[in-house]
Amino acid sequence: MKKILSIILITACLACGCSSASGTEKNTSKSTASEPESIDFFAMDTTIKFSAYGDKKVLKGAKKVLTDLEKKVSVTDSGSEIYHINQNGSGTLTGDVSDLMQKALQMCTQTDGALDISIYPIVKAWGFTTGDYQVPDESTIQSLLPMVNYTKVEFDKTTGNVTIPSGMTIDLGSIAKGYAGQQSAQYLRDNGVKSALLNLGGNVQTIGSKPDGSPWKVGIKDPNGDTPMMVLSITDQAVITSGGYERYFEQDGHTYWHIMDPATGHPADSGLCSVTIVGDDGGTCDALSTSLFVMGLEKAADFWGKSNDFEAVFVTDSGEVYITEGLKDKFALTDDHADTTVKVISR
Ligand code: ADP
Ligand code: MG
Repeated sequence: MKKILSIILITACLACGCSSASGTEKNTSKSTASEPESIDFFAMDTTIKFSAYGDKKVLKGAKKVLTDLEKKVSVTDSGSEIYHINQNGSGTLTGDVSDLMQKALQMCTQTDGALDISIYPIVKAWGFTTGDYQVPDESTIQSLLPMVNYTKVEFDKTTGNVTIPSGMTIDLGSIAKGYAGQQSAQYLRDNGVKSALLNLGGNVQTIGSKPDGSPWKVGIKDPNGDTPMMVLSITDQAVITSGGYERYFEQDGHTYWHIMDPATGHPADSGLCSVTIVGDDGGTCDALSTSLFVMGLEKAADFWGKSNDFEAVFVTDSGEVYITEGLKDKFALTDDHADTTVKVISR
C-alpha cells in the first residue's frame, strides 16, 4: 500500500460546473463572456450537455463527432462496425474506431485484464444490457468465462482488421464515452474553442479554463447520496467516474452492479463503490475508472504509483474517501460533506 496521509478539509462548495443535462437539443442561445452556448442531447445511452464559450456552430459539429462515433461502436446497432464483427467473427474498423480499439486493447493489457473488452456475454447474463436483471446460475457464468479473454482478439492496427474466436462478443462501452468526449473536445479545439465543458452523463471533459481564467469546478457525486461530495478544480482535463450506483439491482439483500470482474464473472466486489479518474486523455481515464474499480483500493493505488498520467478519487463501500496526491490542492468538500476525512495517497 502507498503512503497515506489523512486530512480533514472544511471547505464550502460554491459552484459545481457539471449541472446535469437532459432531453433533446434545446438551447442555442447567444453566448456572452459570462454565458456559454450549450446543446443538450441523448446519445451513448446517456444525457449529454456540451457548453462552450465561442462560436455556437461548432458545438453541433462536436455533437456530430460523438454521434458518428456512436454509430460505429454501438454493440446493438446492426449498422455498426463492432456489431458486424460480433456477428461475423471478423471485420474492419475505420478511423477513430480503429484508434479506439488500439487504445482499449492497450488498456486491457496494462490493467492485466481488469478491463476486458470481451466481458459482454457476462454483462448480458446479469441482464445489464436489457434491464431484465437476474443473478445467473454459476454454471452459466462458468460456461461463459472461457470466452472472456481480450488476448484472443486479433487486431491489426495498420489495416483495422479484427478477428475474434467464435462465441466471443466485444464491446468498447467501458471506454467509448471518455474517448468520444476527448474526440469532441479535440474538434472544438481545432475549431478555435478555448473554453468549454462537455458533460457526458456525469463524465466530464473540459477545454481550457473558464473565460475568466479560473479552473472549471467539477462535482464528484456522493455514491450514497444525490449531491456532490466534493468539487475538483480542473483545467483542460477529463474527469471520469465509474460508480456502482450508476446501474445496479438488488436481490436477497445483495446489490449487484454493472462493473464486472472478468476473473469471476460477478460484479466487482473490490471494496470500492466509486472511482473517479482525472487526466489529459479521456479514453484512458474511462478505461481506468472501470478497471481500477475492479482492482480495489490497494491494487489501484499501486497502479497509480507506477503511472504518471492520471490522478484518482476512490470511495470505499464503508464511505472512506481517498485521493491521490496530485489532487491535494485541487479539491474542496461540499458543505454537506464538510466533516468527511479525506485520505491522501502519496508515492
Ligand atoms: P459507464 O459507461 O456506465 O459510465 P463504465 O465506463 O465503468 O461506466 O463502463 C461500464 C460498462 O462497461 C458496463 O456497463 C459494461 O458494459 C462494461 N464493463 C463492465 N465491466 C467491465 C470490465 N471489467 N471491462 C470492460 N468492460 C466492462
Ligand atoms: Mg469506464
